[in-house]
Amino acid sequence: MAKSVAIVGAGVSGLTTAIVFAERGYDVSTFAKEVGRSTTSGAAAAIWFPYDAEPIPKVIPWALETYKVLADLACDSRTGVSMIELRRFSRAGEIQIPDWAHSLGASSVATALCAVSDRPQAGGYNFASGYSIRVPLTDTTIYLDYLRDRLTNAGGTIQGGVRFENLEDVDPKFDLVINCAGIGARELVHDVDLEPHRGQVAIIPKIKGLDCAIVCDDAPFMYAIPRSNDCVFGGTNDVSDNLNVDPASTSRIVTECSRVLNIETPRVLAERVGLRPFRKSGVRLEAWKLRDGRTVIHNYGHGGAGFTLSWACAESVFQIASQRFASSSG
Ligand SMILES: Cc1cc2nc3c(=O)[nH]c(=O)nc-3n(C[C@H](O)[C@H](O)[C@H](O)COP(=O)(O)OP(=O)(O)OC[C@H]3O[C@@H](n4cnc5c(N)ncnc54)[C@H](O)[C@@H]3O)c2cc1C
Repeated sequence: MAKSVAIVGAGVSGLTTAIVFAERGYDVSTFAKEVGRSTTSGAAAAIWFPYDAEPIPKVIPWALETYKVLADLACDSRTGVSMIELRRFSRAGEIQIPDWAHSLGASSVATALCAVSDRPQAGGYNFASGYSIRVPLTDTTIYLDYLRDRLTNAGGTIQGGVRFENLEDVDPKFDLVINCAGIGARELVHDVDLEPHRGQVAIIPKIKGLDCAIVCDDAPFMYAIPRSNDCVFGGTNDVSDNLNVDPASTSRIVTECSRVLNIETPRVLAERVGLRPFRKSGVRLEAWKLRDGRTVIHNYGHGGAGFTLSWACAESVFQIASQRFASSSG
């Protein structure tokens, strides 16, 4: 197989893919406009859940494979990964526990009353139904730096501030190019199938007593995800390219999350906006030929599940590369 690999993109997909190659002895160079926490990946709540990504028959196995890797990483707190109880609620009616969730021990939440645990009788929001499941949570403020360091420890390099117009602009010394450009693939490879699913979150101080993640997909969409040092309140999901913070959305998010958790409105430490790289025909994970004859493997379009799918997709890229180069040399 090619020994010299260029990865375009240093969000969760690029860094994870780069690690898989570097730890198997390949020379890996990563190039990106932005690196780690400055990317869309840095804006994510980053809890494990197969959300807003297609096609479902592939997404679920990828998600379950990645679950195992992240659960192993959760054994070491320095990774920024931990296991957390996720409670998903419905306002409207009986929530369905997905088939795949049973294998992870999902169970109905007996009472759908939601409030922080040290004052459960103080009111709280009464959802119609809910279920609970234990999942990995990646604290992006730690995990993206962990991935970067793991990559460089394996001998890989990362160069930020590099924007390619075309993948053919990647130095010809690399005989394999891997495209992990997220929503940037729209321009980079002219993929009109990519749709920016804009998400905005508010980072607020840690909430005493909140030790599980709360999500409700019914309007108004909301989630509260406690991390090591703070808490992420969300969310929004609109088709839009606008990367500016919308103060009205922050206000709506904070009000709704506080109402559900039955807490005083907290102060906002930061606001983040990111474009989930949703691809209508599904995650693009395939080999292609560049105009100069080199092989490119695409790994983008993970929508709202880039962390959830990261390790399985990186492993698939490696398998595609191995098969591709085995058949071309044989
Ligand atoms: C608010 C919000 C909440 C989310 N919550 C979750 C969640 O709970 N769980 C989950 O699994 N996922 C979640 N996601 C989705 C997740 O963030 C994305 O799926 C993931 O970040 C995609 O990662 P990526 O590495 O493919 O793309 P990105 O993180 O966007 O990285 C793309 C990289 O490519 C580079 N690049 C792009 N174009 C070029 C170019 N032309 N030249 C050079 N470099 C280029 C960029 O600079 C960047 O380094 C959330 C997203 C948002 C916005």
